[in-house]
Amino acid sequence: MRSATDHRERWVGVRRSVLALVLVGVVGLAGTALSALTLNGVEQDRLNRALNQRTTMIKQAITAEVNRYSASLTDLAAAVGSQSRLETAEFAAITAGVDRQRLPGATGLVFVVPVKHAQTAALESEWRGRGSPSLKLRPIGESTHRFAVLDKSLDNTGSSAGVDLSPSAQAVEAMDIAEQDRRVTVSRTYRLLKDSGLPPERRQLSFVFVAPVFASSPGAPDAGRFRGWLVLGTRGGDFLSEAVADAAGDGVAVTLIDDGSGDPIPMASWQPPAPLDTSVEALQITVPVAQRSWNLRVAATDRLLAGTDRGLDRIAWLVGLVLTALLVALTGSIVTSRDRALRRVDEATAALRRDIAQREEVEHRLRQRESELVGFAGVVAHDLRSPLARIMGYADFLHEEAFDQLDSTQRDFLARLRKGADNMRVLIDDLLDYATAENRPMANVPVDLHRLAEEIARDRAADRAAGIEVGELPTIYGDPTLLRQVLDNLIGNAIKYTPPDREPHVRVGCQPVEGGRWRCEVTDNGIGIPDRDRAAVFDAFTRVGGSENYPGTGLGLAIVHRIVERHHGQVGVEANPSGGSVFWFTVPEHSRVPTPH
Ligand code: ADP
Repeated sequence: MRSATDHRERWVGVRRSVLALVLVGVVGLAGTALSALTLNGVEQDRLNRALNQRTTMIKQAITAEVNRYSASLTDLAAAVGSQSRLETAEFAAITAGVDRQRLPGATGLVFVVPVKHAQTAALESEWRGRGSPSLKLRPIGESTHRFAVLDKSLDNTGSSAGVDLSPSAQAVEAMDIAEQDRRVTVSRTYRLLKDSGLPPERRQLSFVFVAPVFASSPGAPDAGRFRGWLVLGTRGGDFLSEAVADAAGDGVAVTLIDDGSGDPIPMASWQPPAPLDTSVEALQITVPVAQRSWNLRVAATDRLLAGTDRGLDRIAWLVGLVLTALLVALTGSIVTSRDRALRRVDEATAALRRDIAQREEVEHRLRQRESELVGFAGVVAHDLRSPLARIMGYADFLHEEAFDQLDSTQRDFLARLRKGADNMRVLIDDLLDYATAENRPMANVPVDLHRLAEEIARDRAADRAAGIEVGELPTIYGDPTLLRQVLDNLIGNAIKYTPPDREPHVRVGCQPVEGGRWRCEVTDNGIGIPDRDRAAVFDAFTRVGGSENYPGTGLGLAIVHRIVERHHGQVGVEANPSGGSVFWFTVPEHSRVPTPH
C-alpha cells in the first residue's frame, strides 16, 4: 500500500519536474523570440527609413545632375544660335569650355542639321565652306538625314562629323520632341553608334541630351528659324556612377531603368562591393528627366546601417537561447536535487521507522525480562525471609541465653553470623522494596510531604545525631508508603554518607518550578559524589567510589527512581556548592491539595 503511494507520489514528482522544465524552456524561448522580433522590427524600421532617405538623396542627385547637363546644353545652344553665321571655328570656340565643365559619361557634342537626301551634296559643300573642308557626309538610306556637321569629341574616340543620326530612332525621337517643345530633352536609351566598335564589356547603354538651336542673332538672315540640334551623347553607366556615387556610397545599389519605350531596360547600375541585404525590399521610384522619366530601383546593402546596429535580433536569439539553456539547466538541477533530497528524506524516514519499531520491540522485551527478574527477586526474597528469620532467631537465642558459655572464637563466629544475617535481612528488604516499587498497586491520596519529612527526621535523628531542617513541603496526591520510602532513602543516605567525625546537616524543602511542578531537594554536607559517577547512582546495585566504608546494597536510589517515575516525576543529583550533595525530585503541581494546618 505504502509503496504504491510512494510510486504514485514519485510519478507525480517526475511529471511536475518535467512540466517545470518545459515551462521554463517555453517561457525562455517565447521571451527570446519576442525580443528578437521586436529588435528585428526596430531594425527593419531603421533600414526602411535609411533606404528611403538614401533614395531621396539619390533622386535629388540625379535630378541635379540632369539639370546641370541640360543647363550647359541650353547655354551652348543659345550661344550657337546667337551666331549670325555658324562656322567651325566659332563652334570650336563656343564648345571649348565644355571640357572643363566635368560632364561624366559625356562622349561628344555634335551640331546636327536635318536635310533631305537630295540636298546632301549641297549641305556638305556648304559646311565645307564654313571651315570643315574635309567634311564627308555619310548618308544612310535615301530619305531625310540628320547629319552631325560640327563635332566636339569629349572622350577622345575620334570625330563623329559626317555621321547620319537618322537611323537612330531614339535620337531622332528626342530631336523631334526638342524641336517641337523648344527645349532640352533626353532620349530613350540605346547603344551609341560610336560604341559599336568597343569591346562588349565596355559597351553600355547611352542616351543623348538634345537641345534645339534657333537662330537668335537679330542680323542673321534666318533669325528666329530652327537651325538644328546640339546633341550631347552620354554613357548611362558613367553618368550614373558619377551622379549617385556620393549619395549612394556603399549603402545601396542603384539601377536606372528606362521604360520609355515600353519594355523596361536596365540602363545603368551602381553596384558597391558590399552584398545586398535581402531582408528589406528594394524601392522603385520615378525620376523626371526633361520630358521623360527614368525608374530608379534602389536596394539596400548590408552596410546601409552602421555595423554595430546590425544583427541585433541574431544577438538577441543567441543571448536568449544561451540564457534559456542556462535556466533550463538550473531548473533541472534544482528540481532533480530537490527530488533527490525528497527521496533521501523518504529513505531516512523509512529507516527511522524501522529503527523505532525495532527499538520498541527490544524495549518491550527488556521490560518484560526486567519485570520477570524483579518478580523473581521478590519471590526469592520473600521465600528467604522465613529461613532467615529462623537463623536470626537462633542466633539471637544463642546470644542471649548461651553467650557466657561460648569461648572467644565462638563469640566472634556468633557475632559474624548475626551481622551477616542482618546484612541479608537488609538486602532482602531492599529487594522486596525494589520489586514492590515496580509492581505494587499505587494509592492516589493526599500525602502531606511536610509531615512525612518531620516523622522521618525524628526517627533518623534517634539513630544518629544530625541537624535535619525541614522547610516548606507541599501536600500532593500519591502513594504515602512509596513517597515515605523516597524521603526516607534520601534523608537516610544524606546522614549515612556523612563521615562519622562530622555532624550531618540535612535540609529538606520544595519549591514550585516551571511547567507546573514542585522540585523537592535533600541537601547534605556529606562525602559528595564524583562528577563522572552522578549519572550512575540511580542504577540498581550501583555503588560509586568513596562509599566502600559505608554499608549499603546499591538499591535505595533505584527504588527512589522507580517511585518518582510512577508519580510522573524525575530525579537527579547535583553537587552541593558548599560540599556534599543535593538530591532532587520533581512531582506535578496539580497533585497539590490544600494543607489542613
Ligand atoms: P546504598 O545502599 O549503597 O546506599 P543507594 O542506591 O542508596 O545504595 O546509593 C547508591 C550509591 O550512591 C551509594 O553507594 C553511594 O555511593 C551513593 N550515594 C547515595 N547517596 C549519597 C549521598 N547522600 N552522598 C554521597 N553518596 C551517596
